[in-house]
Amino acid sequence: MRTLLVFIFALSTISLIGQNGYELNPCGTEPYKSPWLKQYQKNKDAYPTKVEGEVYVPLNVAVVGTDEGAGRFSESRLVESLCTLTNDFDGTDIFFYLETYRTIYDSEFFEHSNVLEGAAKMFEYDSENAINSYLVGSPAGNCGYNLPYAGIALSNSCASPSDHTWTHELGHAFSLPHPFIGWEGGAGYEGEIGHNYADPAPETVLYNYTLFQDTLILDTLIIDTAFVEYLDGSNCHIAGDGFCDTKPDYLSVRWACDSNFESFNEQTDPSGEKFKSDATLFMSYAFDACASRFSEEQVLAMHASLEEEDGDIILAQTPATGEIVGNGDIQLYTPYDADLDYKDIVFNWGEVEHADYYLFQLGLGEGMSVIFFDTIVQTSKVEVAELNSALPFSWAVTPFSAVDFCDLESSEIVELELSDVSSIDDQLLADKVKLVPNLLTDDQKIRVESEGLNFSSYEVYSLAGNMIQSGDLQGQEIEFPQRLREGMYFVILKDGPVKVCLKFLQQ
Ligand SMILES: [Zn+2]
Repeated sequence: MRTLLVFIFALSTISLIGQNGYELNPCGTEPYKSPWLKQYQKNKDAYPTKVEGEVYVPLNVAVVGTDEGAGRFSESRLVESLCTLTNDFDGTDIFFYLETYRTIYDSEFFEHSNVLEGAAKMFEYDSENAINSYLVGSPAGNCGYNLPYAGIALSNSCASPSDHTWTHELGHAFSLPHPFIGWEGGAGYEGEIGHNYADPAPETVLYNYTLFQDTLILDTLIIDTAFVEYLDGSNCHIAGDGFCDTKPDYLSVRWACDSNFESFNEQTDPSGEKFKSDATLFMSYAFDACASRFSEEQVLAMHASLEEEDGDIILAQTPATGEIVGNGDIQLYTPYDADLDYKDIVFNWGEVEHADYYLFQLGLGEGMSVIFFDTIVQTSKVEVAELNSALPFSWAVTPFSAVDFCDLESSEIVELELSDVSSIDDQLLADKVKLVPNLLTDDQKIRVESEGLNFSSYEVYSLAGNMIQSGDLQGQEIEFPQRLREGMYFVILKDGPVKVCLKFLQQ
């Protein structure tokens, strides 16, 4: 078992800095209508006109961190995001279950600069028997993308429980294009043709789907033509996304909605009719707060696609054998006592019937208002190495099944205090060591001033726990190659077995 290295940071009231994902490209899934969808839309009469039967879709979910173990998406929030996914597909009779859950440490995957690098990593990690989703730091500068032949990559900053990027990308995975398909590169395929929405749209637009073939043809540009959808629905079968219950939509940048859940931006169809885009569709580029549904035709297409394209992995009934009532009477075993005199701790609890996973959390304070470490495991124990804390902390475990991620109940919260706190937070020692300055404005250099100690190395962490710099402490100085983002940082200074944790602010 991989041992977990945890630092407890004294958290202050400083909020985390702007991570709303809006600076990212909303979706890197390039315009693509699969051959399957084209056939399906030509022969819709051959398919059921209403949803028949429930479909259970296995998910292989991986949280990806750097080689050093930093940057991972919060696993507590991951469970909440799975609940959002469940709710977003409510009424579609498409259900998800967590077939496999993994943590992957791979810096090249964590931040990859293009979709092909992401594809190569997915080929390495994909599971054959599930829809694969990876939560990473930066999926080629996008909020997310879906590769029809591999899997879904999601940016941590777009995967919070209030986001719908995951839902959107699963829509792609189940054959749905954007309602504005063809407009991704504007009226031309790469923004080379300007278009004024006040003018009638052209009859056709071009799109590039070079990267979305099963076999990657890298030296050939593959351009297709999309008919532009009329407002009166006269060409809805062949234009845009090919669904007649999704209105025309030509907006391929992230957009806000008005109180009617429509775009502020008015567009003009090829015949001169004015309209606004429908913001309620998950497959549009409307802000997350606007979107809430798939259309009926989209749902039918997803069902047909799942049955024909993913028939070998989906199930027709729930794979779980029972549900967990409340917290399943989970019993926390050890450690249960305060005043532990060791710092590498094995946390143990009793197995709960029907629990496929356990969310293990370490937090500060009585109500665990600040979670500083969390992990999802399938066993009934977690081993935490070097748990250094001068503050009382608590632990709790939440059992959950592979099919149910909402309204979960955790165990009791057990409070603990380490009596043999290692030197990291030894107040006497910390009083003898200072960072000068401890408020950075334009400076990019910090001096370590200490009485009688000569630290040999250092590590700098962000408030979120990501290590951003480390090295030898030459001349007792830390120099940053560039200005840090605003916020609080922690410095761990090391001198043999002695460690001191100090903080500073970047303004
Ligand atoms: Zn998309």
